[in-house]
Amino acid sequence: MAECRHCTRPKPLTDEHLADLLRQVLLQHAWTEAPAEMAHARRQRCAACPHRQPPDTCGICGCLLSIRTRILEQDCPDPAGSRWG
Ligand code: SF4
Repeated sequence: MAECRHCTRPKPLTDEHLADLLRQVLLQHAWTEAPAEMAHARRQRCAACPHRQPPDTCGICGCLLSIRTRILEQDCPDPAGSRWG
């Protein structure tokens, strides 16, 4: 189950919380939700990444992966180069 280190929402975050958070982030920044296949492929890359902080955080940027991977305009923040391809 996803947990956010920075927000004050109840933990662990439920799928409903994550969906609400994604809606707010997309609206706030005028971003677009990534197609499901793209988000799934990104999640697979994150699952195998040494920077991932289980259960759901990127150790480089601190983002919730279940949110970041679903934003079309976002990329993997690895300074060595995007792991999302
Ligand atoms: S560095 Fe990239 S691939 Fe690794 S956990 Fe962060 S977003 Fe995912």
